[in-house]
Amino acid sequence: MSGQGVLYVVATPIGNMGDLTARAREALAAAAVVAAEDTRHTGQLLRMIGLDRPMVSLHEHNEAERVAELVARVAAGEAVALVSDAGTPLVSDPGFLLVRAVRKAGLRVSPVPGACAAIAALSVAGLPSDRFCFEGFLPARGAARRARLEALAVESRTLVFYEAPARIADCLEDLAAAFGAAREATVARELTKLHETLYHGTLGELAGLPARDPNLARGEIVIVVAGADVALEAADTAELDRVLGLLLAELPVSQAARLAASLTGLHRNDCYARALALRQGS
Ligand code: SAM
Repeated sequence: MSGQGVLYVVATPIGNMGDLTARAREALAAAAVVAAEDTRHTGQLLRMIGLDRPMVSLHEHNEAERVAELVARVAAGEAVALVSDAGTPLVSDPGFLLVRAVRKAGLRVSPVPGACAAIAALSVAGLPSDRFCFEGFLPARGAARRARLEALAVESRTLVFYEAPARIADCLEDLAAAFGAAREATVARELTKLHETLYHGTLGELAGLPARDPNLARGEIVIVVAGADVALEAADTAELDRVLGLLLAELPVSQAARLAASLTGLHRNDCYARALALRQGS
């Protein structure tokens, strides 16, 4: 790797050590110093891969003070590796201030990509992934969380949330209340680890899960929720079926779908898909 000053932003595994890339090892080995969210945690990782590198801590409470000294080291020609406890730094993890400062100083920042829980969950959720938005952690307090969810209820892209195990039950209930119980979602737990589990269903079904499966509230969790237009709400489906039932008796599928969209305000593609299903079913 480069002999010039550089900040490597290095992704580390989110559970399975096999996900540490060859380039990650190379960048850590080349680093004059490793800036780590938790030096004890990263010390274990380095020992596990047979490396012994100097470390400095860089976490949410000291990042602002650490930035100047690390920028100076990159400016002096050193390679600095930034890592967090798991996954990709800066993704709900520290590092933004450092990356910004190194870039502002006109110095090199280079990614060493790898695991990221949000992307891993999205890749297996079975929900549209062509457009998505990452929302990170929702507010911990109930009122603030519900307000944020109300604002997100009309978001049409697939939504990805991180959540702490202790809050999963409340969070799923709030999601079902804000987005409607019929919205599809996947809860991805302990990805890449021994107890990796995916729960798929409607938000209404998933909200009942923590009471039935105590394991859900253990381990690390990503929630992936379908966007607003993807799944019709149950009430919408009932109304659409009623309207389509009348129109399909008189009209071909495409015309019935177009009229149904105007009458109900629902998306034309949704009306067409439903009309087709009803026609084929009858
Ligand atoms: N930077 C990390 C990344 O790239 O995914 C995320 C760090 S954030 C502080 C930690 C959160 O990520 C956890 O609370 C959980 O929501 C999610 N997470 C991390 N590892 C996970 C895993 N193996 N399975 C499911 N979720 C995980």
